[in-house]
Order: sequence, then C-alpha cells, then structure tokens
Amino acid sequence: MTTNKTRVHNFNAGPAALPLEVLEQVQAELINFGGTGMSILEMSHRSQEYEVVHNQAKSLLKELLALPPEYEVLFLQGGASLQFAMIPMNFLPPGKKAAYVMTGVWSEKAYDEAAKVGEVFVAASTKEDNYSRIPALQELAYGADSAYLHITSNNTIFGTQWNEFPDTGKVPLLADMSSDILSQPFDASKFSLIYAGAQKNLGPAGVTIVIIRKDLLEQANKNVLTMLRYNTYAKENSLYNTPPTFSIYMVNLVLNWLKKQGGLEAVYRHNQQKAAVIYDAIDSSNGFYSGHAQNGSRSLMNITFRLANADLEKKFLQAAKQANFVGLAGHRLVGGCRASAYNAVPYDSCLALKELMEKFRKENS
Ligand code: PMP
Repeated sequence: MTTNKTRVHNFNAGPAALPLEVLEQVQAELINFGGTGMSILEMSHRSQEYEVVHNQAKSLLKELLALPPEYEVLFLQGGASLQFAMIPMNFLPPGKKAAYVMTGVWSEKAYDEAAKVGEVFVAASTKEDNYSRIPALQELAYGADSAYLHITSNNTIFGTQWNEFPDTGKVPLLADMSSDILSQPFDASKFSLIYAGAQKNLGPAGVTIVIIRKDLLEQANKNVLTMLRYNTYAKENSLYNTPPTFSIYMVNLVLNWLKKQGGLEAVYRHNQQKAAVIYDAIDSSNGFYSGHAQNGSRSLMNITFRLANADLEKKFLQAAKQANFVGLAGHRLVGGCRASAYNAVPYDSCLALKELMEKFRKENS
C-alpha cells in the first residue's frame, strides 16, 4: 500500500495532486466495485451502479457550489480547450459581438477560437503589464448588446486570480474556471456558464464540467452538430454517448472528499493558509525571489516567482528535485518557477516548500 512517505511534494499544474484518501479508495475498489464483481472501468454506463455515481457527482457539485435550481451540470470531453470552440458555436450568432477579458494565455486561446466563429472584441486586457494583474471592474468596456462576456477566473500560467466578479446585467457572464473551481465560495448565480477541465481541482483528466443556466441553454444555436451542442448533454443527463465514466467516478470521490473537509468555506481557509506560507517565503526574501503577480491579483492556486537569473532558477529546480518536489518549473511560455497549490496539495507540502526556499536563499545569496 502506498504511504505518504513514498509520495512527493506535488506542485504540478495539471494533471495535479489528488487526495491520498481518494487514490487509496480507487485502489481498494478497482477490481471489484461495490460488490459487483467487476471494476467500474468494466461497467456499462447504462448500469444502475454507474448511474448512481454519475448522479451523485452532479448533485454534489450543485450542493458544494450552492447552485440555484435553474442550473444544469454537464459532463463533457475535449477539455477546456473544446469549450473555447463550443461557446461561440452555441452562443455567438451573426450580428452579435462577444466580449473577452484578456488576462493570459488561456484567455487568448479562447478569444482566438471565438474569432474563427464570429465577431469578438477585447473588453479589457492586461497584456501590457505582462498579465501580472486582473483588470479593475471599471476597466471592463462592453455594450449591453454583447453576446456574452468571457473571463478566465484564474490564470494558471501567470498566477493571477479574480477576487471580485462583475455584475453584467443582461449580458451573460461566462467563465473558464479550470484552475480554481471549488477552491473558494463564490456567487455562482452571477454566471450563465462556467466550465472547467477536471484535472486540477476536481479529479483526473478526461472530463470537463460545464455549469449552465437554463435560459442560456434555450438561446443556443440549433444548427450546431450533435456532439457540440450543450443541449445534447442537458437533455440526456450527459449520457447521450459514453461519458468518461472512470473520470466522473473519480470526480465524485474528490467531491465527497471536499464535502468531508467542510465544504468550500473550509477549503478556502486551508488554501489561504497554504498560499500565505509560500507568498511569505517570496515577500520575506529581500528580492531573492520576486513574485510575478501584483498584490491584489495574486492567485491562491498558482504561485509564480522568479529568481535573479535563469542559472539560479535551474539550480533551485535541481535542489527542489533532490528534496522530493515536483512540478515547480514555470510554464514553458514564461519560464521561472510556479507552485500550483490546488485543493489536494497538503499544507505540509507548502510549508516544506517555504523551508526549501529559505534554505536555498541562505545558501545562495
Ligand atoms: N484554461 C485554463 C485556465 C487552463 O489552465 C487550461 C489548462 N492548463 C486550459 C484552459 C486548457 O485545458 P485543457 O487542457 O483541459 O483543454
């Protein structure tokens, strides 16, 4: 049986750390799920046993996010990247323009994809600041006739996060929450659509969660191909075709684990404590480490920082590897270092990282 001692301090950006308890449960149930004499991997997606899991994952998501009844939870494939395309295909009709807030690489990808489908414009961008901040709400500029406003709630690569969401009135607010969903409570009723790949805070890769309000669903373009229509999933309880059953099963276990932790309030407090120790290692280093994100925009999930030069960064990453840390290199597009402290990353790993950072600083300054 795997124990904590054989596990690394996992700061991967996604796929990322999963709760050890969940992995152990998966291991225990892998060969014979719930006395059925078969693995959940071998089971029909139409079986009653699977459907219980599928429906529990949906209802736990609704419960943890305190979703009002007019929201549907859907399970899709194709990652958040397919959402970049499905959103405009379904919700950007000719004659309308869609507004995008540019806060990093993922917002750019979402915008570029939508631009292939219809008319888009930038409602605000912090590119000039090298995406080191989230725009203030007053900076957002879009008309009341916009098809929708799209934001990226947490910018995985640059390490910035929205901490206040706009009230968009009649304009539907859509968000990519791939890297911070379920990390803190928020008012989901502001959003018409939320999507997230599971592989950071929710479970393994392979399933994408979409939360959609029924009034938006009703406005969807009816000429989209079957598998690219949200309605196909909504009408059939995400069982129109074979869903990624194992990924959904694991999401359900992670959601049960989150509930056991005390729900989003408790998880948020824990995430704040975790991020605080790492930001403290940066802020108390007299500039040895410099954080990328500006104060007020710092992410609790992805903590990005640099050292004085690329050689020192390489040396730090080498020292981290030797001390049993993984995933601390920054994204290949921006370099530097990044610690992704998603829900399942233990506080002790964050504390161990702070200690490593302080030791490395003393030895190298
Ligand atoms: N959006 C964000 C915010 C992400 O962090 C990522 C993946 N790192 C994506 C979209 C793309 O997700 P996927 O690989 O699931 O398509």
